[in-house]
Amino acid sequence: MVYNLPATRLLMNRLRQIMAEDGETRSRLDNVVRLIASTMVADVCSIYLRHRGGTLVLIATEGLKPEAVGNTRLGPNEGLVGFVARRAEPIAIQDAPRHPAFSYRPETGEDPFHAFLGVPILRGGRVIGVLTVQNRTERLYGDEEIDSLQTIAMVLAEIVDRIDPEHLDNGDGQRRARNPASLKGRVFCEGLGYGRAVLHDPVVPAAKFFAGDQEIEIARLNRALVDLKAAIDRMMAIDGAALGEDPRDVMETYRLLAHDQSWAEKLHEGVRSGLSAEASVDRARREHRARLQSARDLYLRERLHDLEDLDNRLLRILGGDEGKPEISEERSVLVARRLGPAELLEYANAGLRGILLEEAAASSHAAIVARAMGIPTLGGIEGLTTRIDQGDWLIVDAEQGTLHVRPDNSLYDAYKARVALRSERQAAYAALRDKPARTKDGRTIKLMLNAGLELDLDMLAPAGADGVGLFRTEFQFLVSESLPSLDDQITLYRHVLDKAAGKPVIFRTLDLGGDKVLPALNQQREENPALGWRSIRFALDHKGLFRRQLRALIRAAGSDPLTVMFPMVTVPAEFDEARDLLLAEMDWSAERTGKRPAKLEIGVMLETPALAYSLKELAGRAEFLSVGTNDLMQFFYAADRMTPHVSDRYDLVFPSALRFLKQVAEDCAVNGIRLSACGEATGSSLSALCFVALGFTNLSMSAGSIGPVKRMIRSLDMTAFQPDFMAALEKPNGSFRNHLLGLAAEHGIELAEG
Ligand code: PEP
Ligand code: MG
Repeated sequence: MVYNLPATRLLMNRLRQIMAEDGETRSRLDNVVRLIASTMVADVCSIYLRHRGGTLVLIATEGLKPEAVGNTRLGPNEGLVGFVARRAEPIAIQDAPRHPAFSYRPETGEDPFHAFLGVPILRGGRVIGVLTVQNRTERLYGDEEIDSLQTIAMVLAEIVDRIDPEHLDNGDGQRRARNPASLKGRVFCEGLGYGRAVLHDPVVPAAKFFAGDQEIEIARLNRALVDLKAAIDRMMAIDGAALGEDPRDVMETYRLLAHDQSWAEKLHEGVRSGLSAEASVDRARREHRARLQSARDLYLRERLHDLEDLDNRLLRILGGDEGKPEISEERSVLVARRLGPAELLEYANAGLRGILLEEAAASSHAAIVARAMGIPTLGGIEGLTTRIDQGDWLIVDAEQGTLHVRPDNSLYDAYKARVALRSERQAAYAALRDKPARTKDGRTIKLMLNAGLELDLDMLAPAGADGVGLFRTEFQFLVSESLPSLDDQITLYRHVLDKAAGKPVIFRTLDLGGDKVLPALNQQREENPALGWRSIRFALDHKGLFRRQLRALIRAAGSDPLTVMFPMVTVPAEFDEARDLLLAEMDWSAERTGKRPAKLEIGVMLETPALAYSLKELAGRAEFLSVGTNDLMQFFYAADRMTPHVSDRYDLVFPSALRFLKQVAEDCAVNGIRLSACGEATGSSLSALCFVALGFTNLSMSAGSIGPVKRMIRSLDMTAFQPDFMAALEKPNGSFRNHLLGLAAEHGIELAEG
């Protein structure tokens, strides 16, 4: 087999013509394999296409027996072809029949061929087929030959995708039926949505595959690479003073990858072989994705993610404005493998009907932004981006955690009925908006909003919230490309106070680390990030950063009241240190500006069980305590909140957790510390019922939960219910949750859950 670049280019030109031609699929494929075999001086060239269940069907060949076409079928793991499909990478073998994976199929007549080269045909990160060449003589194919066959496979992917291997014999190569499918995901933001898929990652249309003028394409690629490096350098140029001497590994790795010659060289080679700059980057992206699908090692996966991010960035630069997905459709559902919060914010005004994310953990910040935007969102959907094509119709059922792809009419009708029901419920909650959250026997509960972005504040009035019970200040950091300056922070906090218009706002100081990792600050890789160098621990070790935030809060408040709380405090000394810093900043600011907040309240979050046993020491210093159930429960039950297999396994509505909270409530009362709760659990009306029964009078939750919780409270007679609740807690009978649901029903309490 003789290989040279001009030959590949010639082949590309011919392929381009074949792709443009009309005509029977079968004869087009025959032309393709003939062309590849002759250009690459191979004795055999064959295309296998993956069919349902992973079977690989021979759909075209030059050199094997023609009668094998349509008849040779290999199991997903069978033979060398199955081996290539499973590994999702090229395999070159000098003497194929002696390879352990070789499987002899007499109908093909392939005995005389020794040398074998197989490459996967990849589309959207999945292997849709395998392209092979074979030679009689024993030889090992070189890197350039392998590259060349991979390039051809990419172009071929556009021709063979959607061909149904079962219908090739019909002569017209019917398009593969795009069946409806239902996929499971985790609900990140509740709701229902219907619309057409818009893929977030740039799509390179087949029409843009081939280079018109090679010199121009090389120049475009070079320019884009320079722009990419400059953009990354800009991201690196963050404020050194705030960072201290921290290593910035993540960004450095990113930069190193962008400067990696072998990556750039591969892209150039793609263009030299006849591809456009976009197609060459796309080729690299397909390979990275395919390797990602099969990579088990976490570190390797991260690097492949980084590489794929770079491919995408480069494609966007090459596409200019066109690189951005167009949300021109009235009904669009955004589909992404993973998405940074800043990227998602760019879609804030696009009128999206839903958001779908493949990755669960890495997308959690995007999930928070999605919640702020109030868009139905599902995450953790395995295989999402490989199952959906641009423009597919989708039903996002972010009530039950199901995505329906290309739904049929009956599903669509069921969806419409659910939407009608949902709007009825929403209307009922809206009617409660201006009514107080007061129990039948006259106890008022404050219902506050959990927020983190300015966007969230827009929900304050429509949700009928009494104020902001948790403002997660770290979100501003997470959604910015570089560290927010003092002025940026002051501006945000002031806007929040202005939008709250006199209603109380509790600012929680920076809670970075754990799942909220900031590449710019790079917390180190940790075995157990949730238990690691995070939150107040991290803030107290980065005093420059922390003091600057405290200063921003004080400046933003001016002469208005200011309420601040510290997250993840484990021992009282951490609270004292943070409080002293705040008070010192206050004096410093007062000296400079002559202004002091009219009132300063300092509180603490209860997120580690240890702190529950130190409340005595906080008496007189912490005005209030807010139970952060998300972290508290993961430490109480030793169950990672980010690991789907265990995160929902243990229930707050369970005697041990509730007895613990009961003790906390009693200790707070004894020590004169005001008590409240934030965290996801407050948003479930059954958990909220438990909090209220334990004596909590202040609950903070996301906007969508306020209506259902208020309805529950207004249906509750505490005087009647509390004794039964306490008795059940002391002497549980069977499943506590079921027992409680029964009690609630007996007392006529209206729960959203049932
Ligand atoms: C919590 O842990 O309950 C909490 C409110 O904080 P976050 O979810 O931001 O960690
Ligand atoms: Mg927390």
